[in-house]
Amino acid sequence: MDRKGVFPLQAFSSIETPFYYYDTTVLRDTLEVLTQQAKAARIEVHYALKANANRRILSIIRGYGLGADCVSGGEVKAAIEAGFPASKIVFAGVGKADWEINLALDYGIFCFNVESIPELMVIEELAAAKGKTANIALRVNPNVEADTHHYITTGKEENKFGIALGDLDAVIDAVERCPHIKLIGLHVHIGSQIMEMNNFAGLCNRINEVQDKLDKRRVVLEHVNLGGGLGIDYHHPNRQPIPEFETYLKTLRKMIKLRPGQTLHVEPGRSVVGQCGTLITKVLYIKEGVKRNFAIVDAGFTELIRPALYQAYHKIENISSEAAVEKYDVVGPICESSDVFGKDVPLNQTKRGDLLAIRSAGAYGEVMASQYNQRALPKAIFSEDIH
Ligand SMILES: *Cc1c(COP(=O)(O)O)cnc(C)c1O
Repeated sequence: MDRKGVFPLQAFSSIETPFYYYDTTVLRDTLEVLTQQAKAARIEVHYALKANANRRILSIIRGYGLGADCVSGGEVKAAIEAGFPASKIVFAGVGKADWEINLALDYGIFCFNVESIPELMVIEELAAAKGKTANIALRVNPNVEADTHHYITTGKEENKFGIALGDLDAVIDAVERCPHIKLIGLHVHIGSQIMEMNNFAGLCNRINEVQDKLDKRRVVLEHVNLGGGLGIDYHHPNRQPIPEFETYLKTLRKMIKLRPGQTLHVEPGRSVVGQCGTLITKVLYIKEGVKRNFAIVDAGFTELIRPALYQAYHKIENISSEAAVEKYDVVGPICESSDVFGKDVPLNQTKRGDLLAIRSAGAYGEVMASQYNQRALPKAIFSEDIH
């Protein structure tokens, strides 16, 4: 078995569970590698806030000079408050409300990623009312595979996202009738937790075809944005804490055919923050069931919903025990049968009061927490505050 992660157990003993623990050294090391590799590949990075919008995490990320990829007005506000310059904020999303568009126009963000003609018309109208011009990129649906869970693929025809390639001509016609819109880019995002570089290569090939078509219409774009989606190693968070940014970014740079002066952008979320976060939870009871033992813990899907929502795997460790390994179903206290973190999980023999570490929980963890069952939202503890 992989060795366990190293956690400050002494400090943890006085912190009320459950809580998120962020290892800021892992986060900074990740950002260091990401920014170095992005610079080498001449790729601009916008961090996807939806993966984790904890204020301190945002300010650390901001410190490395990344831009922000937002999918709501609330995220645009959070990005501004965390110090991301408006000129580095992109705003995507299939359903932007008028107030969200107005907010982004007022801040003067870099670019709206537009997903339909009706949305385009509303942005034109709202920008006209303000006497402003909105920069937009067209988010196309490239209809390519992403080899990931079907709930987190977004770039197939049946998904709600993006403009179908067959409709692109009509959308460009519409753009040309909008005096308050400036078309500056092309955007795609095909899904999340993608480990196969072939999927990204296929995406680049499709974008190359789209650009050939745009050339014929003499549409010249300033940037191509390939979205996010790079996966992380949920099975071995210690062996590979920093994702394969180099291979990923080099693949994109090699496969994409840019036009003169065009810049290349990406929007990673999970790969930036996934491995720095751990959900720490306490064992309330060991309950002997029929042919299985349940370790009932004080965290539930209210703190981390990924296992319940996408059948996602998270490595779980008993960080209080070195006794022989046994198997447990690790379950939460929420009144739903889906409130399960893992079945047949090998753990060092576990007893009431032990702390379990649910690893790789930095992305789509704390940010998706809810108050269902009138539970309190989880706290966040940072490694750099523990001495
Ligand atoms: C969710 C999302 C991302 C980030 O995806 P990750 O898999 O977390 O890297 C990037 N761009 C858009 C438009 C998104 O919706």
